[in-house]
Amino acid sequence: MLIRREDYRREEYIWIDGAKPTAKLRSKTRVGMRVEQPGLWGFDGSSTNQAVGENSDCVIRPVLSIKDPVRKKLDTMLERDRGDLLVMTEVLNTDLTPHESNTRAACVAVAEMCRGQEMIFGIEQEYTFFKGVRPLGFPESGYPPPQGGYYCGVGDDEVHGRDVVEAHLEACLEAGLKIHGINAEVMPGQWEFQIGPLPAVEVSDQLWLARWLLYRVAEDFGINATLYPKPARGDWNGAGAHTNFSTREMRNNYQACVDAAEALGTRHELHIENYGYGIEERLTGLHETCSYKEFRYGVSDRGASVRIPWQVEHDQKGYIEDRRPNANMDPYVVTRLIMETITGVRLNGDGNGVEE
Ligand code: ADP
Ligand code: MN
Ligand code: MN
Ligand code: MN
Repeated sequence: MLIRREDYRREEYIWIDGAKPTAKLRSKTRVGMRVEQPGLWGFDGSSTNQAVGENSDCVIRPVLSIKDPVRKKLDTMLERDRGDLLVMTEVLNTDLTPHESNTRAACVAVAEMCRGQEMIFGIEQEYTFFKGVRPLGFPESGYPPPQGGYYCGVGDDEVHGRDVVEAHLEACLEAGLKIHGINAEVMPGQWEFQIGPLPAVEVSDQLWLARWLLYRVAEDFGINATLYPKPARGDWNGAGAHTNFSTREMRNNYQACVDAAEALGTRHELHIENYGYGIEERLTGLHETCSYKEFRYGVSDRGASVRIPWQVEHDQKGYIEDRRPNANMDPYVVTRLIMETITGVRLNGDGNGVEE
């Protein structure tokens, strides 16, 4: 029996693996019928650090399906829309309970518990391009000129990888992701995009998809995008994932913004422990960071753990920025911890994500 091409589409199932200390994205393709919704699928957990060989099956369940802009680009050349999808999934055990590597389930549970506060998040994802073993723009030997002109720079001497960044931005827009902007960062080859503002689970699902698109788009340029928090040692900025957030109350009342900053200080160590591997190397107190050993907040202060933007003080309402999370953080964990700390809700140890 033969199939009719037009009845089918390519579905790229994406999941988060069990790699330690930092989980990575994996994906594989399923040919699905266009009239059907993406459904449960499985993979070999013994190859992703999520199961043992004798009992290797893990289940993936779709949580967010978007238009696949990568395959769509090829389709445009064919002047045909084949309806291909990127399918973000969560990993389950074969009894359909959340797998121990699944940090989303706890985020969903906490978001539900504090739904009334209408929390939203905008995440600034910094990253670094690598060509081989060096950051893009670093010479074969030695170092490029010191930091100063690269942030939001223009020109071949300052900017490295813009074609990749533009292709990624277009891919995110084509896919319908809520991308807020892009900018060149302080170190050569380092860039940022922002996702949000959106509720915790949505911003996290979209951030993981935007990360996958970044890796995938860069792959075609022969460039590797990385989330290393301190990609170059010495006098070079690290890569973070500043997490901006607000409750409905904060969006109406400045005192609530100050109270939120105070609250973050009460669980500083717990947050630091769960804000991405290698955070001590990045939060040194230099390079626009506050040492991981201290907690401080301030208006316009980029040397603080938490910044209240000047506009927020001026308007007497808005949001605050948690500057501590590393680029390699898990947004399901970071947004969940912030929700817990700000609203006071606590998950009664279901084993997923972090424990207190
Ligand atoms: P920075 O000046 O720190 O580089 P960016 O412009 O990169 O700031 O990022 C600011 C982020 O704050 C954006 O992702 C945006 O979506 C988010 N944001 C704006 N308003 C709010 C709000 N009320 N609540 C939560 N996030 C917000
Ligand atoms: Mn930014
Ligand atoms: Mn930045
Ligand atoms: Mn920021």
